[in-house]
Amino acid sequence: MPKTDATTHPDKSPARPAIAPGDNPLLEDWNGSGGVPPFSRIRAEHFLPAYAQALAEHVAEIAVIAAAPEPPTFANTIAALELSGRTLDRIDNVFHLLAGAHTDDALLEVERVMAPQIARHWNQIHTNPALFQRIDTVMGAADPSGLDAEQRRVVERYHTRFRRAGAALDDAAKERHAGIIERLAALGTAFSQNVLADEQAFTLRLEDEAELAGLPDFIRETLRFEAAERGLDGYAVTLSRSTVDPFLQFSDRRDLREKVFRGFVMRGDSGGPTDNKSIIAEMIRLRAERAELLGYADFAHFRLDDAMAKAPGAVRDLLDKVWRPARASALADRDAMQALIQEDGGNFRLEQWDWRYYAEKLRRRVCDFDEAAIKPYLGLDRMIEAAFYTASRLFGLNFTPLPDVPVWHPDVRVWQVSAANGEPIGLFFGDYFARPSKRSGAWMTSLRDQHKLAGDVAPFIVNVCNFAKAPAGEATLLSFEDARTLFHEFGHALHGLLSSVTYPMIAGTNVATDFVELPSQLFEHWLEQPELLRRFALHYQTGAPMPEQLLARLVAARNFNKGFATVEYIACAETDLDLHALPPPAPGDPPLDARAFEAASLGRIGMPDEIVMRHRLPHFAHIFAGAGYAAGYYSYMWSEVLDADAFAAFEETGDIFDPATAKRLRDCVYAAGNRQDPADAYKAFRGRLPSADALLRKRGFAGSAAPVN
Ligand SMILES: [Zn+2]
Repeated sequence: MPKTDATTHPDKSPARPAIAPGDNPLLEDWNGSGGVPPFSRIRAEHFLPAYAQALAEHVAEIAVIAAAPEPPTFANTIAALELSGRTLDRIDNVFHLLAGAHTDDALLEVERVMAPQIARHWNQIHTNPALFQRIDTVMGAADPSGLDAEQRRVVERYHTRFRRAGAALDDAAKERHAGIIERLAALGTAFSQNVLADEQAFTLRLEDEAELAGLPDFIRETLRFEAAERGLDGYAVTLSRSTVDPFLQFSDRRDLREKVFRGFVMRGDSGGPTDNKSIIAEMIRLRAERAELLGYADFAHFRLDDAMAKAPGAVRDLLDKVWRPARASALADRDAMQALIQEDGGNFRLEQWDWRYYAEKLRRRVCDFDEAAIKPYLGLDRMIEAAFYTASRLFGLNFTPLPDVPVWHPDVRVWQVSAANGEPIGLFFGDYFARPSKRSGAWMTSLRDQHKLAGDVAPFIVNVCNFAKAPAGEATLLSFEDARTLFHEFGHALHGLLSSVTYPMIAGTNVATDFVELPSQLFEHWLEQPELLRRFALHYQTGAPMPEQLLARLVAARNFNKGFATVEYIACAETDLDLHALPPPAPGDPPLDARAFEAASLGRIGMPDEIVMRHRLPHFAHIFAGAGYAAGYYSYMWSEVLDADAFAAFEETGDIFDPATAKRLRDCVYAAGNRQDPADAYKAFRGRLPSADALLRKRGFAGSAAPVN
């Protein structure tokens, strides 16, 4: 439902800096709040004037670096660049946090205004010839012996970044390239705002018991809360994944499942003003043109050249290897579900909105395992404790709640993170609940990155999730998938918190996209360990541990429906690569038809009709709301090859918290940022690179193409 905020000023023009510079909390030093932004005083109208000042400051700093009369050195060029733009960085971090986690009409407008301006700003820096000349000189210096390994890595990263941003192009190409980047920024913003609008516009109200049929209490409570949050009586289904998935899993009402499913998969594909298909066509065309300007065959080659995978072929090989057994497993599950339907006297074909429902029935039968039975043991607070405990066992970290740190929403919680010897490491912010002002999905972000270039700067790391909140006074209970998401994002958070590098550019999660999921996915493994579940999966009312039998069934059911999960994922990864393998269209070519392209891509790989891609193109934010995962959605599986093999390193010692392995993991991965090439970092941890075997075993596809539940 669209946000109707009576206090929103009808004048949408944000170009009215009514704020005197002295009154802008974004431009203060924040020392009074320990370096944390004073959120309660920050308003949307503070951003444009603060951005204006920060951009001007950065432009002036860059001009000084580029025009320095001294010959270029690491200190006067690279280190100086690392120290520049700090105000812009601070404001950007606050803005991106709020734009994702707690937005409103005024912030959406700031986002539309600023996205192209910021793209233009960076274009001007990246294509500044004098500046690139200096970086190039430092890079090519005959005697780099004065630099340590980290400094050499930082120079090389700067050189690569500038080259990939068009620094080495001739003037005409530079100008076209800059225009493309700017336009892509505006399109990415429009894309994600359209998805948010479609999510806010959908509510399915459930009026009576007949419409609630099959829904366990915990889902009913969520639906009541979601209705209340939108000022409605009764129950309402909204489009956050942690509401949609359980509804599809449990609702006996096939007609309502179809309605919710269609609402979810048609986000961005409505045909109305929030439709994203023409945005997709333009973005793909511009990315292809950009890759061509930079001398690459297509955008996927451009993208992967700077990733661990290096080229699309290596990725396709991996996806193919997993696709075949995954698809076979999903088809076997499909047949078993179709048989269930017949047994129940149903006379219909299993459809996409039936899959989760019958999978749940099948799971109860095959694994004697019922999602609703384990949920009371997965309280949010217990699972947070479990994540902290794992971090403490592996890395000696302690977490102390800090009630008085400024936050952007009353639901946000903050912890002081400290080392075993009590030394402070950073702050961790947890923003766990879905709300209308938050984008869907789950992510890690930062308010401040670790570095040591200007004193020891401690990181402020944020996890944002979309768990369905229990009504006041009740414990929030998670599904096992939700708990996995919590561990996943917390793994990213540790990558930010444990970072121990000198230069901000290579801190924490600033690593290749196909390596960045290693710390997060690896951390998920500990959640599945009986040792951890025995300790933290306690009944939310009685405090009793999960019965051993239930625990055994939970662990045994781990790979149930893995064929489905793998298929819905690989379908996205393949389609993403297909899209970004397109050459720029020739004059007169019709624009890309995103829907037809999606269908053709899925047809090529033999997508089962009963399964929908995890993210259909019109709302595939990973690849269109910015370029984060464009031609990079495969990264999760690439990283999974690593995480499956990395966890085996612990298992091989017989101790899932083995201190020596944990220390190596911390030194080579969690603390190391982008200090070295990702393949080298992994080899330093494990002594070798992994094969896909551990991944196939983990997903239950090892050995043969036979279906495994
Ligand atoms: Zn992740």
